[in-house]
Amino acid sequence: MCPARPQRRCHRRPSPGRALPSAGPSPGGGSLRPVAAARWWAPSAMSRPSSAGPPASKPCAKQQQQQLQQLQQQQQQQHPLQQPGPAPATLSAAGSSSSSGPGGGGGPASPQHHELTSLFECPVCFDYVLPPILQCQAGHLVCNPCRQKLSCCPTCRGALTPSIRNLAMEKVASAVLFPCKYATTGCSLTLHHTEKPDHEDICEYRPYSCPCPGASCKWQGSLEAVMSHLMHAHKSITTLQGEDIVFLATDINLPGAVDWVMMQSCFGHHFMLVLEKQEKYEGHQQFFAIVLLIGTRKQAENFAYRLELNGNRRRLTWEATPRSIHDGVASAIMNSDCLVFDTAIAHLFADNGNLGINVTISTCCP
Ligand SMILES: [Zn+2]
Ligand SMILES: [Zn+2]
Ligand SMILES: [Zn+2]
Ligand SMILES: [Zn+2]
Repeated sequence: MCPARPQRRCHRRPSPGRALPSAGPSPGGGSLRPVAAARWWAPSAMSRPSSAGPPASKPCAKQQQQQLQQLQQQQQQQHPLQQPGPAPATLSAAGSSSSSGPGGGGGPASPQHHELTSLFECPVCFDYVLPPILQCQAGHLVCNPCRQKLSCCPTCRGALTPSIRNLAMEKVASAVLFPCKYATTGCSLTLHHTEKPDHEDICEYRPYSCPCPGASCKWQGSLEAVMSHLMHAHKSITTLQGEDIVFLATDINLPGAVDWVMMQSCFGHHFMLVLEKQEKYEGHQQFFAIVLLIGTRKQAENFAYRLELNGNRRRLTWEATPRSIHDGVASAIMNSDCLVFDTAIAHLFADNGNLGINVTISTCCP
Protein backbone atom coordinates (compact mmCIF):
# COMPACT_ATOMS: atom_id res chain seq x y z
CA MET A 1 0.00 0.00 0.00
CA CYS A 2 1.05 3.51 -0.52
CA PRO A 3 0.35 5.29 2.73
CA ALA A 4 1.37 8.62 1.28
CA ARG A 5 -1.72 8.83 -0.79
CA PRO A 6 -5.10 9.62 0.58
CA GLN A 7 -6.96 6.44 1.02
CA ARG A 8 -9.88 6.52 -1.30
CA ARG A 9 -12.57 4.03 -1.44
CA CYS A 10 -13.16 1.43 -4.01
CA HIS A 11 -15.82 -1.08 -4.36
CA ARG A 12 -16.54 -4.15 -6.26
CA ARG A 13 -19.78 -4.56 -8.11
CA PRO A 14 -22.75 -6.04 -6.28
CA SER A 15 -22.51 -9.71 -5.71
CA PRO A 16 -24.66 -11.78 -8.04
CA GLY A 17 -25.69 -13.71 -5.01
CA ARG A 18 -23.10 -16.41 -5.18
CA ALA A 19 -20.98 -15.42 -2.24
CA LEU A 20 -18.87 -18.25 -0.96
CA PRO A 21 -18.91 -19.05 2.72
CA SER A 22 -15.25 -18.17 2.87
CA ALA A 23 -15.98 -14.59 1.90
CA GLY A 24 -16.31 -13.78 5.56
CA PRO A 25 -13.13 -12.05 6.77
CA SER A 26 -13.94 -8.59 7.88
CA PRO A 27 -11.19 -6.06 7.31
CA GLY A 28 -11.11 -2.70 8.96
CA GLY A 29 -12.66 -1.19 5.85
CA GLY A 30 -15.92 -2.96 6.49
CA SER A 31 -18.08 -2.21 3.52
CA LEU A 32 -15.25 -2.41 1.01
CA ARG A 33 -15.12 -6.13 1.17
CA PRO A 34 -15.25 -8.00 -2.11
CA VAL A 35 -17.40 -11.05 -2.37
CA ALA A 36 -16.11 -14.14 -4.02
CA ALA A 37 -18.18 -15.29 -6.90
CA ALA A 38 -18.16 -18.30 -9.10
CA ARG A 39 -16.33 -17.83 -12.35
CA TRP A 40 -18.70 -16.91 -15.11
CA TRP A 41 -16.35 -17.11 -18.02
CA ALA A 42 -14.67 -20.39 -18.44
CA PRO A 43 -11.17 -19.73 -19.78
CA SER A 44 -12.13 -21.22 -23.11
CA ALA A 45 -15.17 -18.99 -23.57
CA MET A 46 -13.98 -15.91 -25.36
CA SER A 47 -17.05 -13.81 -25.01
CA ARG A 48 -19.46 -13.51 -22.18
CA PRO A 49 -22.94 -14.80 -22.68
CA SER A 50 -24.35 -11.32 -22.39
CA SER A 51 -22.58 -10.30 -25.56
CA ALA A 52 -23.95 -13.22 -27.50
CA GLY A 53 -26.98 -11.30 -28.66
CA PRO A 54 -27.41 -9.49 -31.92
CA PRO A 55 -23.91 -8.08 -32.15
CA ALA A 56 -21.79 -10.54 -34.03
CA SER A 57 -18.48 -11.01 -32.37
CA LYS A 58 -15.43 -10.85 -34.52
CA PRO A 59 -14.55 -14.53 -34.45
CA CYS A 60 -18.09 -15.37 -35.49
CA ALA A 61 -18.02 -13.04 -38.42
CA LYS A 62 -14.64 -14.41 -39.45
CA GLN A 63 -15.97 -17.90 -39.13
CA GLN A 64 -18.95 -17.02 -41.19
CA GLN A 65 -16.75 -15.57 -43.87
CA GLN A 66 -14.62 -18.65 -43.82
CA GLN A 67 -17.70 -20.80 -44.10
CA LEU A 68 -18.89 -18.70 -46.98
CA GLN A 69 -15.55 -19.01 -48.67
CA GLN A 70 -15.56 -22.73 -48.13
CA LEU A 71 -19.02 -22.97 -49.58
CA GLN A 72 -17.89 -20.94 -52.53
CA GLN A 73 -14.93 -23.22 -53.06
CA GLN A 74 -17.13 -26.27 -52.82
CA GLN A 75 -19.46 -24.76 -55.34
CA GLN A 76 -16.60 -24.07 -57.66
CA GLN A 77 -15.48 -27.65 -57.35
CA GLN A 78 -18.96 -28.87 -58.11
CA HIS A 79 -19.29 -26.61 -61.11
CA PRO A 80 -15.81 -26.33 -62.55
CA LEU A 81 -17.04 -24.76 -65.75
CA GLN A 82 -18.81 -21.92 -64.06
CA GLN A 83 -16.98 -18.79 -63.29
CA PRO A 84 -16.45 -18.24 -59.61
CA GLY A 85 -18.12 -15.21 -58.10
CA PRO A 86 -16.67 -11.80 -58.87
CA ALA A 87 -13.19 -11.26 -57.48
CA PRO A 88 -13.72 -10.06 -53.92
CA ALA A 89 -10.57 -7.96 -53.82
CA THR A 90 -11.55 -5.56 -56.56
CA LEU A 91 -15.12 -5.39 -55.37
CA SER A 92 -14.28 -4.69 -51.77
CA ALA A 93 -11.94 -1.95 -52.92
CA ALA A 94 -14.73 -0.40 -54.90
CA GLY A 95 -17.07 -0.93 -51.98
CA SER A 96 -14.84 0.78 -49.48
CA SER A 97 -14.72 3.95 -51.49
CA SER A 98 -18.44 3.97 -51.93
CA SER A 99 -19.16 3.34 -48.27
CA SER A 100 -16.65 5.78 -46.87
CA GLY A 101 -19.05 8.66 -46.99
CA PRO A 102 -22.20 8.67 -44.94
CA GLY A 103 -24.91 6.75 -46.65
CA GLY A 104 -22.48 5.22 -49.09
CA GLY A 105 -22.90 5.71 -52.79
CA GLY A 106 -26.05 3.73 -53.28
CA GLY A 107 -28.79 6.19 -52.54
CA PRO A 108 -30.18 4.19 -49.63
CA ALA A 109 -33.30 6.30 -49.39
CA SER A 110 -34.67 5.58 -52.82
CA PRO A 111 -37.71 3.32 -52.91
CA GLN A 112 -36.28 1.40 -55.86
CA HIS A 113 -33.18 0.64 -53.86
CA HIS A 114 -35.26 -0.60 -50.97
CA GLU A 115 -37.33 -2.71 -53.33
CA LEU A 116 -34.15 -4.21 -54.67
CA THR A 117 -32.60 -5.00 -51.30
CA SER A 118 -35.89 -6.44 -50.04
CA LEU A 119 -35.58 -9.15 -52.71
CA PHE A 120 -32.63 -10.40 -50.68
CA GLU A 121 -34.51 -10.71 -47.40
CA CYS A 122 -34.29 -14.09 -45.78
CA PRO A 123 -37.82 -15.38 -45.01
CA VAL A 124 -36.62 -16.80 -41.68
CA CYS A 125 -34.44 -14.14 -40.04
CA PHE A 126 -35.16 -11.12 -42.29
CA ASP A 127 -31.45 -10.51 -42.62
CA TYR A 128 -30.09 -10.40 -46.15
CA VAL A 129 -29.31 -13.45 -48.23
CA LEU A 130 -25.78 -12.73 -49.37
CA PRO A 131 -23.37 -14.63 -51.61
CA PRO A 132 -22.86 -17.46 -51.99
CA ILE A 133 -26.59 -17.49 -52.65
CA LEU A 134 -28.14 -20.93 -52.67
CA GLN A 135 -31.70 -21.75 -53.57
CA CYS A 136 -34.06 -24.66 -53.04
CA GLN A 137 -35.19 -26.91 -55.89
CA ALA A 138 -38.07 -24.52 -56.54
CA GLY A 139 -35.89 -21.40 -56.51
CA HIS A 140 -36.58 -19.94 -53.05
CA LEU A 141 -33.76 -18.24 -51.24
CA VAL A 142 -32.76 -18.57 -47.61
CA CYS A 143 -29.65 -17.13 -45.97
CA ASN A 144 -26.73 -19.43 -45.31
CA PRO A 145 -26.80 -19.30 -41.49
CA CYS A 146 -30.51 -20.21 -41.52
CA ARG A 147 -29.99 -22.77 -44.22
CA GLN A 148 -27.56 -24.66 -42.01
CA LYS A 149 -30.24 -25.06 -39.36
CA LEU A 150 -33.00 -26.12 -41.73
CA SER A 151 -33.88 -29.49 -43.12
CA CYS A 152 -36.22 -28.18 -45.80
CA CYS A 153 -37.08 -24.94 -47.58
CA PRO A 154 -39.01 -22.61 -45.26
CA THR A 155 -41.13 -21.39 -48.18
CA CYS A 156 -42.14 -24.59 -50.00
CA ARG A 157 -40.90 -27.35 -47.66
CA GLY A 158 -38.95 -28.73 -50.60
CA ALA A 159 -35.47 -30.18 -50.42
CA LEU A 160 -32.53 -27.85 -49.81
CA THR A 161 -30.01 -30.35 -51.06
CA PRO A 162 -28.36 -30.70 -53.43
CA SER A 163 -27.65 -27.01 -53.21
CA ILE A 164 -28.25 -24.95 -56.30
CA ARG A 165 -26.31 -21.77 -56.62
CA ASN A 166 -28.02 -18.66 -57.93
CA LEU A 167 -25.28 -16.83 -59.79
CA ALA A 168 -27.59 -14.19 -61.20
CA MET A 169 -28.69 -13.08 -57.72
CA GLU A 170 -25.08 -13.11 -56.59
CA LYS A 171 -24.18 -10.75 -59.40
CA VAL A 172 -27.01 -8.46 -58.45
CA ALA A 173 -25.95 -8.63 -54.79
CA SER A 174 -22.48 -7.51 -55.74
CA ALA A 175 -23.90 -4.45 -57.43
CA VAL A 176 -26.13 -3.44 -54.53
CA LEU A 177 -25.18 -1.61 -51.34
CA PHE A 178 -26.93 -3.08 -48.31
CA PRO A 179 -27.89 -1.12 -45.22
CA CYS A 180 -26.00 -1.83 -42.01
CA LYS A 181 -27.70 -4.24 -39.62
CA TYR A 182 -28.04 -1.36 -37.14
CA ALA A 183 -29.82 0.98 -39.57
CA THR A 184 -32.85 1.03 -37.27
CA THR A 185 -30.74 2.39 -34.39
CA GLY A 186 -29.20 5.13 -36.49
CA CYS A 187 -26.44 3.82 -38.74
CA SER A 188 -26.86 5.32 -42.17
CA LEU A 189 -24.13 3.39 -43.92
CA THR A 190 -24.81 1.18 -46.87
CA LEU A 191 -22.14 -1.31 -47.70
CA HIS A 192 -20.98 -3.81 -50.21
CA HIS A 193 -21.91 -7.24 -48.89
CA THR A 194 -18.27 -8.23 -48.40
CA GLU A 195 -17.77 -5.31 -46.03
CA LYS A 196 -20.94 -5.68 -44.03
CA PRO A 197 -19.77 -8.19 -41.38
CA ASP A 198 -16.58 -6.29 -40.52
CA HIS A 199 -18.41 -3.01 -40.25
CA GLU A 200 -21.20 -4.43 -38.11
CA ASP A 201 -18.63 -5.78 -35.67
CA ILE A 202 -17.44 -2.28 -34.95
CA CYS A 203 -20.56 -0.27 -35.79
CA GLU A 204 -21.05 2.43 -33.18
CA TYR A 205 -24.80 1.91 -33.36
CA ARG A 206 -24.52 -1.65 -32.15
CA PRO A 207 -26.21 -1.74 -28.74
CA TYR A 208 -23.96 -1.46 -25.70
CA SER A 209 -24.03 -4.22 -23.10
CA CYS A 210 -23.74 -3.62 -19.38
CA PRO A 211 -19.99 -3.14 -18.80
CA CYS A 212 -19.95 -4.87 -15.43
CA PRO A 213 -17.75 -7.93 -15.59
CA GLY A 214 -19.49 -11.25 -15.48
CA ALA A 215 -22.65 -12.22 -17.24
CA SER A 216 -25.12 -11.61 -14.46
CA CYS A 217 -26.55 -8.44 -16.01
CA LYS A 218 -28.14 -8.77 -19.43
CA TRP A 219 -28.87 -5.10 -19.92
CA GLN A 220 -28.34 -3.61 -23.39
CA GLY A 221 -28.94 -0.11 -24.59
CA SER A 222 -27.48 3.04 -26.04
CA LEU A 223 -24.23 4.59 -24.87
CA GLU A 224 -26.13 7.51 -23.39
CA ALA A 225 -28.12 5.12 -21.20
CA VAL A 226 -25.12 3.21 -19.80
CA MET A 227 -24.35 5.56 -16.91
CA SER A 228 -27.92 5.77 -15.71
CA HIS A 229 -28.14 1.99 -15.91
CA LEU A 230 -25.02 1.67 -13.76
CA MET A 231 -26.33 4.18 -11.28
CA HIS A 232 -29.68 2.46 -10.92
CA ALA A 233 -28.86 -1.21 -11.29
CA HIS A 234 -25.36 -1.27 -9.81
CA LYS A 235 -25.70 1.24 -7.02
CA SER A 236 -22.88 -0.18 -4.94
CA ILE A 237 -20.18 0.80 -7.43
CA THR A 238 -18.31 3.73 -6.00
CA THR A 239 -17.25 6.66 -8.15
CA LEU A 240 -14.14 8.71 -7.42
CA GLN A 241 -13.49 12.10 -8.95
CA GLY A 242 -10.11 13.03 -10.33
CA GLU A 243 -7.52 11.85 -12.79
CA ASP A 244 -5.20 10.35 -10.20
CA ILE A 245 -6.74 8.02 -7.67
CA VAL A 246 -6.02 4.89 -5.66
CA PHE A 247 -8.13 1.86 -6.39
CA LEU A 248 -8.06 -0.11 -3.18
CA ALA A 249 -9.00 -3.74 -3.63
CA THR A 250 -9.65 -5.40 -0.32
CA ASP A 251 -9.36 -9.06 0.60
CA ILE A 252 -7.37 -10.09 -2.43
CA ASN A 253 -6.69 -13.44 -0.83
CA LEU A 254 -10.27 -14.58 -1.14
CA PRO A 255 -10.38 -17.91 -2.92
CA GLY A 256 -12.03 -18.38 -6.27
CA ALA A 257 -12.80 -15.81 -8.93
CA VAL A 258 -13.37 -12.30 -7.65
CA ASP A 259 -14.02 -8.95 -9.34
CA TRP A 260 -13.44 -5.51 -7.96
CA VAL A 261 -15.02 -2.62 -9.82
CA MET A 262 -15.12 1.11 -9.35
CA MET A 263 -15.71 4.21 -11.41
CA GLN A 264 -13.40 7.12 -11.94
CA SER A 265 -14.70 10.40 -13.22
CA CYS A 266 -12.43 12.95 -14.91
CA PHE A 267 -12.07 15.00 -18.10
CA GLY A 268 -15.84 14.98 -18.39
CA HIS A 269 -15.91 11.22 -18.83
CA HIS A 270 -16.52 8.15 -16.73
CA PHE A 271 -14.01 5.35 -16.60
CA MET A 272 -14.55 1.92 -15.17
CA LEU A 273 -11.69 0.27 -13.31
CA VAL A 274 -11.82 -3.48 -13.16
CA LEU A 275 -9.63 -5.88 -11.24
CA GLU A 276 -10.33 -9.53 -11.81
CA LYS A 277 -8.86 -12.51 -10.09
CA GLN A 278 -9.30 -15.68 -12.05
CA GLU A 279 -7.73 -18.91 -13.05
CA LYS A 280 -6.96 -18.53 -16.73
CA TYR A 281 -4.80 -21.63 -16.63
CA GLU A 282 -5.62 -24.43 -14.27
CA GLY A 283 -4.06 -24.06 -10.87
CA HIS A 284 -2.58 -20.68 -11.77
CA GLN A 285 -4.46 -17.75 -10.32
CA GLN A 286 -3.82 -14.37 -11.87
CA PHE A 287 -4.97 -10.82 -11.44
CA PHE A 288 -6.04 -8.72 -14.42
CA ALA A 289 -6.50 -4.97 -14.10
CA ILE A 290 -7.85 -2.71 -16.81
CA VAL A 291 -9.52 0.64 -17.42
CA LEU A 292 -12.54 1.01 -19.69
CA LEU A 293 -14.07 4.21 -20.99
CA ILE A 294 -17.82 4.59 -20.89
CA GLY A 295 -17.62 5.81 -24.44
CA THR A 296 -16.84 4.89 -28.00
CA ARG A 297 -13.57 3.50 -29.30
CA LYS A 298 -12.88 6.79 -30.94
CA GLN A 299 -13.34 8.68 -27.69
CA ALA A 300 -11.11 6.16 -25.92
CA GLU A 301 -8.25 6.99 -28.26
CA ASN A 302 -8.07 10.45 -26.70
CA PHE A 303 -6.99 9.01 -23.36
CA ALA A 304 -4.25 6.98 -21.79
CA TYR A 305 -4.23 5.26 -18.44
CA ARG A 306 -1.51 4.08 -16.11
CA LEU A 307 -1.89 1.39 -13.48
CA GLU A 308 0.83 1.13 -10.92
CA LEU A 309 1.55 -1.18 -8.05
CA ASN A 310 3.99 0.52 -5.79
CA GLY A 311 5.48 -0.38 -2.44
CA ASN A 312 8.16 -2.27 -0.57
CA ARG A 313 10.77 -0.69 -2.87
CA ARG A 314 9.14 -2.21 -5.92
CA ARG A 315 7.09 -0.84 -8.78
CA LEU A 316 5.03 -2.50 -11.47
CA THR A 317 3.50 -0.28 -14.14
CA TRP A 318 1.20 -0.77 -17.10
CA GLU A 319 0.23 1.98 -19.52
CA ALA A 320 -2.27 1.72 -22.34
CA THR A 321 -5.23 3.24 -24.10
CA PRO A 322 -8.47 2.57 -22.26
CA ARG A 323 -10.78 0.12 -23.94
CA SER A 324 -14.23 1.20 -24.92
CA ILE A 325 -16.95 -0.62 -23.02
CA HIS A 326 -18.16 -1.58 -26.50
CA ASP A 327 -15.25 -4.03 -26.52
CA GLY A 328 -15.57 -5.21 -22.93
CA VAL A 329 -12.91 -6.81 -20.76
CA ALA A 330 -13.17 -10.47 -21.73
CA SER A 331 -11.02 -10.34 -24.84
CA ALA A 332 -8.47 -8.08 -23.15
CA ILE A 333 -8.07 -10.63 -20.38
CA MET A 334 -7.87 -13.50 -22.84
CA ASN A 335 -5.06 -11.71 -24.66
CA SER A 336 -3.45 -10.39 -21.47
CA ASP A 337 -3.85 -6.92 -22.94
CA CYS A 338 -3.99 -5.38 -19.47
CA LEU A 339 -1.98 -5.33 -16.25
CA VAL A 340 -1.43 -8.99 -15.41
CA PHE A 341 0.24 -10.31 -12.29
CA ASP A 342 0.13 -13.49 -10.30
CA THR A 343 -0.73 -14.02 -6.68
CA ALA A 344 2.92 -13.96 -5.62
CA ILE A 345 3.34 -10.46 -7.05
CA ALA A 346 0.06 -9.39 -5.49
CA HIS A 347 1.42 -10.46 -2.13
CA LEU A 348 4.59 -8.46 -2.65
CA PHE A 349 2.52 -5.30 -2.97
CA ALA A 350 -0.42 -6.12 -0.74
CA ASP A 351 -0.79 -4.76 2.71
CA ASN A 352 -2.80 -6.88 5.07
CA GLY A 353 -4.64 -8.53 2.19
CA ASN A 354 -5.50 -5.22 0.57
CA LEU A 355 -4.01 -4.12 -2.71
CA GLY A 356 -3.81 -0.49 -3.74
CA ILE A 357 -3.51 0.26 -7.44
CA ASN A 358 -2.65 3.79 -8.45
CA VAL A 359 -4.74 4.79 -11.44
CA THR A 360 -3.82 7.80 -13.53
CA ILE A 361 -5.84 8.90 -16.54
CA SER A 362 -4.44 11.41 -18.95
CA THR A 363 -5.49 12.92 -22.24
CA CYS A 364 -3.28 12.46 -25.23
CA CYS A 365 -2.91 15.12 -27.88
CA PRO A 366 -3.98 14.02 -31.31
ZN1 LIG B 1 -31.89 -16.20 -42.45
ZN1 LIG C 1 -38.57 -23.61 -51.68
ZN1 LIG D 1 -23.43 0.42 -38.92
ZN1 LIG E 1 -25.85 -3.98 -15.57
